Amino acid sequence: MPASPENGAQMAPRVLVAINDAELAILRLVAMHLRDGRGQPDWRQARLAEGQMLRARIARMITYLAGAVASEVNSIVLDAYNRGQALAMADLDLFLVPVLIADDAVDTSAVIAQSTVDTIVQAMKLIPDMVIATLREAVAAGRDSNVAGDVAALQRSQKILERLASRGFAGFSYGPECDWSLEEYAEMAVSAGAGRAAVQGHVDALAASGMDLVLVSVSPEACQICCPFERQVLSISGRVGRVLEPNGDEVSASVTDVKASLAGAIAKGLFHAGCRHELSAYLPGVTRTDVVLSTQRRPRPEQREHDVERKVRQWKRREAVALDALTRRRAAEEVRMWRMESHRAHNELTRPEGKWRPRSPG
Ligand SMILES: [Zn+2]
Repeated sequence: MPASPENGAQMAPRVLVAINDAELAILRLVAMHLRDGRGQPDWRQARLAEGQMLRARIARMITYLAGAVASEVNSIVLDAYNRGQALAMADLDLFLVPVLIADDAVDTSAVIAQSTVDTIVQAMKLIPDMVIATLREAVAAGRDSNVAGDVAALQRSQKILERLASRGFAGFSYGPECDWSLEEYAEMAVSAGAGRAAVQGHVDALAASGMDLVLVSVSPEACQICCPFERQVLSISGRVGRVLEPNGDEVSASVTDVKASLAGAIAKGLFHAGCRHELSAYLPGVTRTDVVLSTQRRPRPEQREHDVERKVRQWKRREAVALDALTRRRAAEEVRMWRMESHRAHNELTRPEGKWRPRSPG
């Protein structure tokens, strides 16, 4: 079967649990810091004075939490690579080509995983400064908090923290865009890495089994970048132009026009982020180039479930930054409601006739 970056990208949301845990741990610490000593005459000075200590503590937490993110990313990328290999095996089996597995599979996947982890960890290093900037704002807003029971000051601080919590840490640059939240940023980075791994796993298995030519599908969502490569034959080893290749009948051979090397096409943008094009093994005399419609389609059916889970994470962050019991209980109730909604979305999705229907109002 053909493989697409989408085969790996689908696994990217798995990283969100580790990212959310990291965000929650840091946000809880910030809220704790602001609650500390509330009502004391020197509250404001004490909060600001301890800012640098808090910064160092957050930096240490990030080092620890980055380990959890790295282990999840490693697992996702390896799964994506294996998925690509499995799809290639189905492809080869169809052609009755004996399957050989690439023996450096783990190395290849580890290299891709490492560069993905580096991208995310690099972004996470910006968090301590973000947190301290917000902390200063929240301390300034709650400056009258030395008056015990000053509800208005508490609410002003709370508002500042909720701004941070509602999107999570934000303002990360990825490509030309520069205002991604940490979870969006991490999901994008993992989508790209896992997508690359799925295609690489597929290609490595084909190459290890002696197949060199691959065919790019037609996608219903073709973009300018990929259009020149649709229905085109590419070469894994880099043979370009008119290439003589044995036919599927194993006795004859035919000349195939190879548009580009696979690496060259990828360098020109093929399989960009969000690409739905697929790659399949090309066997001269057997593979038809006129019927190669990609099976990858948007929107993903999981989108609704994904959106609801985003809400769960958002309210968990708001719960983490609650400065008083009432705010915390309200946020916890929202978490509970959105979790139920998430189960509902999941059940609708997995039901045999499964189509998501919105709840009727009331
Ligand atoms: Zn594309």
